[in-house]
Amino acid sequence: MLKGKTALITGSTSGIGFGIAKALAKQGANIVLNGFGDHAGPEAEIAALGAKVAYHGADMSKPAEIEAMVKFAQEKFGSVDILVNNAGIQHVARVENFPIERWDAIIAINLSSAFHASRAVLPVMQKANWGRIINVASVHGLVGSAEKSAYVAAKHGIVGLTKVTALENAKSGITCNAICPGWVLTPLVQKQVDAKAEALGLSNQAATELLLGEKEPSMQFTTPEELGDLAVFFCSAAGNNIRGVAWNMDGGWAAQ
Ligand code: NAD
Repeated sequence: MLKGKTALITGSTSGIGFGIAKALAKQGANIVLNGFGDHAGPEAEIAALGAKVAYHGADMSKPAEIEAMVKFAQEKFGSVDILVNNAGIQHVARVENFPIERWDAIIAINLSSAFHASRAVLPVMQKANWGRIINVASVHGLVGSAEKSAYVAAKHGIVGLTKVTALENAKSGITCNAICPGWVLTPLVQKQVDAKAEALGLSNQAATELLLGEKEPSMQFTTPEELGDLAVFFCSAAGNNIRGVAWNMDGGWAAQ
């Protein structure tokens, strides 16, 4: 379905981003990976799916590096047709204790990076009159949770950016939508399970059940594979007129 298209997925060396990269690769898209840590392993897995793959190590808190990454993707594959703004970090603390440096980093990586990457790819998409921008927000783009001020602010912000980007391109073949997952068991969430287990003296299993039970009626994690399939749906012809939605895949979290 996506043969000949190029997808750039930020923060795709791990977790949800990697799951979305694999789903798009299975549809034949060329893949540009980004993120920290090992990238040779994820690159090899994407190549094994038969897709062309490249990697750029831009730090998503740095606008000049984001611009260089988009240029790299365009030079490597000729265009960027699908942009998935996914890179994100978390820090948990009450507002009065929140480290200023963590606030700034979360706003930069979870929100401003999506603006910088979108700004860089939109002229190319507009020329082609086709494009998909998928912002990985969170159920925290729709509702709040205590001790997550920067994250919730950034995720509500990216839902707003999604709507405006969709509206500005509403008469074109470019759509912009947000995906709002509940809990997904990635390294970002495992750290929160570990913190709960340590603070309350619980086993990993008990801390996991507590974490799910507090928020997610289904008592199930959403998987990177399910989120990948939703991204593929947004890229399909069925998604041609889906514009500016914030689509939760959260086990009923926001329905409460
Ligand atoms: P993860 O920690 O597994 O992956 C995060 C990715 O972002 C990694 O590839 C990491 O290297 C990259 N990254 C971090 N800082 C970066 C930077 N400065 N520059 C470039 N890359 C950077 O986390 P995840 O759970 O897969 O999260 C991915 C996205 O999904 C985030 O935006 C997160 O907020 C969102 N999300 C996650 C959950 C969840 O439950 N895991 C729920 C809702 C939303």
